[in-house]
Amino acid sequence: MYVIHEVYDWLHGFGQEVDWKSWVWNQFNSPKHMFISWLAIHNKLKTRDRLERFGICNDNRCLLCGDAIVNRNHLFFECNYSKRCVALIADWLKIRDTSYSIEEIWKQWCKHLKEPIYRKVGMAALSAIVYHIWFARNHVLWQKAVFLPKILCKVICIETVDRCRHLVNCKWDRNHCKWLFSLRASVP
Ligand SMILES: [Zn+2]
Repeated sequence: MYVIHEVYDWLHGFGQEVDWKSWVWNQFNSPKHMFISWLAIHNKLKTRDRLERFGICNDNRCLLCGDAIVNRNHLFFECNYSKRCVALIADWLKIRDTSYSIEEIWKQWCKHLKEPIYRKVGMAALSAIVYHIWFARNHVLWQKAVFLPKILCKVICIETVDRCRHLVNCKWDRNHCKWLFSLRASVP
């Protein structure tokens, strides 16, 4: 369970090391994606391994792949289901040889996406992946149905482009707009 002062610190930029801020604090992220990403990077989501430790759950198998013991690193993004989603989105953004570690992936994507606006769009997509994988996991838990990775990725891509489209301002040039338009047209 996260506590309110941690969220306060996060909102106000104090506290522990924040080298992940270029990802999580990115203004292009949807607030709900930002919040779930913050919980994920701090390992505060209620994954089954944590619930088991608290004596709340006695099944620690991954809800998405069903054949591995789940923890934060498995869910983001060692799980075959999550890997498939990350691979599809990385391919969409033309990022080759992506990492599948939540600790490393944003750094690696930042290296690929050097231009600031492209980078912000990439980080928004990454936050959307974290949010939607958590959403898909909860959907299996409560609805007993799993979304196909391709369907999940379609939602991630459309949400990312639509969010960024509304943030276009004078810092965007023709090439940025053309790139965003090409992303919308190439949703997998
Ligand atoms: Zn899994």
